[in-house]
Amino acid sequence: MNLSALLAPGATLTSPAGAALALPPVTAAALYAAVGHDKAIMGLGGMPSDIGTLSLTTEWADDEGAIVTVFSVLRYRLDTRNDIDPVTRLCTTPTCLDESLGNTVLSRTCYNHLDALVPGLLPLAGDDIRPGDRETAAQDSRRMRLDDYEENVVTLLESEAQGSRNLLEHLRRASS
Ligand SMILES: [Zn+2]
Repeated sequence: MNLSALLAPGATLTSPAGAALALPPVTAAALYAAVGHDKAIMGLGGMPSDIGTLSLTTEWADDEGAIVTVFSVLRYRLDTRNDIDPVTRLCTTPTCLDESLGNTVLSRTCYNHLDALVPGLLPLAGDDIRPGDRETAAQDSRRMRLDDYEENVVTLLESEAQGSRNLLEHLRRASS
C-alpha cells in the first residue's frame, strides 16, 4: 500500500502473519506528519515529492500497534493507545526494535547499531576487502554517524531557540 491509503477512513494495516490493526485517524495523521518531517530533514535521494505515493509495508502488527517501513528504509513503531505521541522513529537496522538516536540519514540508528557500516565504505566485492578493513569501516561509520547526530542536535536546538526568540519578540511587541 502507499502512505495516502492510510488516511482513508477505515484504513487497516495487515502484517505478514495476517494480524490486522484498524488505524485510528490520529495515528495515521501522526505517521504522515513524521514522514513529511523526516523527508524534509533527510533529503533522501530519489524520494518522490508527494509523500502520499511512498510505499508502506507492515512488518508486524497486533490490535494495539504496528511496526511499519516507509520507502523501504524508514521504520516507525505505531502505538494506537498513545494519542499524544503515537509514532516512534526506529533504528533503520532491519528487525531492530530500538528507538533511533537522531533523524538524519546517518544518525537514524540506535546506540547499538552506530557501527553499522555506512554504504560505500567497503568495496562491494568481498575479494577486495583486506584484513582489518571491516573494523576500520565500522569505526569510520560510528564516527560519521555521531558527527551527523551532532549536527542534527545543533540544528534542532537552533530551530527551537529561533522559535523561542520569535515568541519573545512577539510578546515584547505586544506589551509595548
Ligand atoms: Zn538498532
